[in-house]
Amino acid sequence: MLAVSAAVVSVGAAAPPAATTGGAGPKVPVAVGYGGAVASVDADASAAGIEVLRHGGNAVDAAVATAAALGVTEPYSAGIGGGGYFVYYDARSRTVHTIDGRETAPLSADADLFTENGKPLAFADAVSSGLGVGTPGTPATWQKALEEWGSRKLGAVLRPAERIARDGFTVDDTFRSQTASNETRFRYFPDTAKLFLPGGRLPVVGSTFRNPELARTYEELGSKGIGAVYRGDIGDDIVKTVEHPPVDPASGWNARPGKLAEKDLAVYRAKLQAPTRASYRGLNVYSIAPSSSGGTTVGEALNILEGTDLSKASEAQYLHHFIEASRIAFADRGRWVGDPAFEDVPTKQLLSQRFADSRACLIKDDTVLTSPVAPGDPRHPAACGKGAAAAPTTYEGENTTHLTVADKWGNVVSYTLTIEQTGGSGITVPGRGFLLNNELTDFSFVPANPAVHDPNLPGPGKRPRSSISPTIVLDRHNRPVVALGSPGGATIITTVLQTLTGFLDRRLPLVDAIAAPRASQRNAAQTELEPALYDSDLRKQLEALGHGFKQNPEIGAATGVQRLPGGKWLAAAEKVRRGGGSAMVVDPAP
Ligand code: GLU
Repeated sequence: MLAVSAAVVSVGAAAPPAATTGGAGPKVPVAVGYGGAVASVDADASAAGIEVLRHGGNAVDAAVATAAALGVTEPYSAGIGGGGYFVYYDARSRTVHTIDGRETAPLSADADLFTENGKPLAFADAVSSGLGVGTPGTPATWQKALEEWGSRKLGAVLRPAERIARDGFTVDDTFRSQTASNETRFRYFPDTAKLFLPGGRLPVVGSTFRNPELARTYEELGSKGIGAVYRGDIGDDIVKTVEHPPVDPASGWNARPGKLAEKDLAVYRAKLQAPTRASYRGLNVYSIAPSSSGGTTVGEALNILEGTDLSKASEAQYLHHFIEASRIAFADRGRWVGDPAFEDVPTKQLLSQRFADSRACLIKDDTVLTSPVAPGDPRHPAACGKGAAAAPTTYEGENTTHLTVADKWGNVVSYTLTIEQTGGSGITVPGRGFLLNNELTDFSFVPANPAVHDPNLPGPGKRPRSSISPTIVLDRHNRPVVALGSPGGATIITTVLQTLTGFLDRRLPLVDAIAAPRASQRNAAQTELEPALYDSDLRKQLEALGHGFKQNPEIGAATGVQRLPGGKWLAAAEKVRRGGGSAMVVDPAP
């Protein structure tokens, strides 16, 4: 193991010019100051968190407020119709805790959920249907987080979001273009069209977008509590909508019904569970355990990379090792990670240095592994073992949202929430102002390779495997160094890995580690590259080693916070992706 004092990292980087302004003022990708910090993709949402911090709320209160506001301003990525994973650092005990708020399959589901006449459904058919809708986990996550570690009631932290929903927010390019890319299927569902295509048209950039129905839903949630969703009238409306998707018959769309029932909502629990931990160059990297594959896969890849001094490697060798470590970690993820309530997931062994070392020796400086690489067996690590049968990585949609919060007491939250695709199922609950998720399409529809056990087939009450990777890094004294995360389906894992190594090993300022052009290898023949890498000389250097590439126009939308000495925090977000993110602090001065 290499040990370097990675906790000391540069801050640097002047803020680039402010992007479009929302009601909350200019969007800036980096902010430094005191009293706590919030980073999200949206200025109104970051401001909602800052408002709660300013009034004495803690990081958990602020995280829920920010998430609820994202449900208004980023309704295609987040909201109470979806789920997510919440990671919390408690400053007093210097410990990390997590909540698995993943959506679950109906109790009536089985492995054939997404097959018809013995054949897997087309992905698009499964997405815009009731079949893909899992029991929402987000309301239960908010309530659990507040109960365990918060200092405010749900009703109080929902208030800023309620106000934004009622008074409106300013439509930006991202909101309009995300609506445009969903326009066709939104028109299948008249309630969705009525809400998101006001007057039958795409929302105009610069106009005010209001969602009074969502304001009322939040108000009800705040006054009645989450029982309104899990045992009450909001839940009844969800069930009705999933069982009879309110589709326009004239659209010709076959919106398959789902079998979500009242019982599914009644038995839903957001689970408190232990985080994953990987030690990396003297630091402790905490993240989320299965049912997400985020913590184990990022952790395994870090363990694999630990044998190489990435701080001294050339840019090409750094990327080469990052790509190869991702390739191997994805092979193991595919074979071993699913919902641990249903599958025997060797979480601890996947994160052991012994296993990582047995996998790292497959990587050579001058050649490239051939994908699909076969999985190793973490229970019986065999040095440089070639493994048996290999399975490719199954497809996952890409969209969601990540937020990161710190407070003046030193508590930190790293929280990723999602409704899966941009626009989720496309189905709005009539009169309630929010979209339902299509998270169940994260299950494998059929095994990726029938010869290899697939731990991610649907099952009754099962959580589909996620890639969400909200991460908090602590130093050797268990004090925070940095916290970050990203959306992007399975690319979340590679984005988090690349940003962590960019920051910790390559010593980039956090905002530049986030902005750096991304690569994503997920045990496929070709590695995806954003244009800035695809069009660079680095691509040619890597191709000379044997790498194959294809373009991906945009990967992820990360946010993070970094702890600086003296109670100071740095919040960082995207400079350009998704129209730029929003970093804020409570007070620029001490
Ligand atoms: N469904 C994805 C997952 O849980 C999240 C959606 C996304 O980030 O794109 O891994």
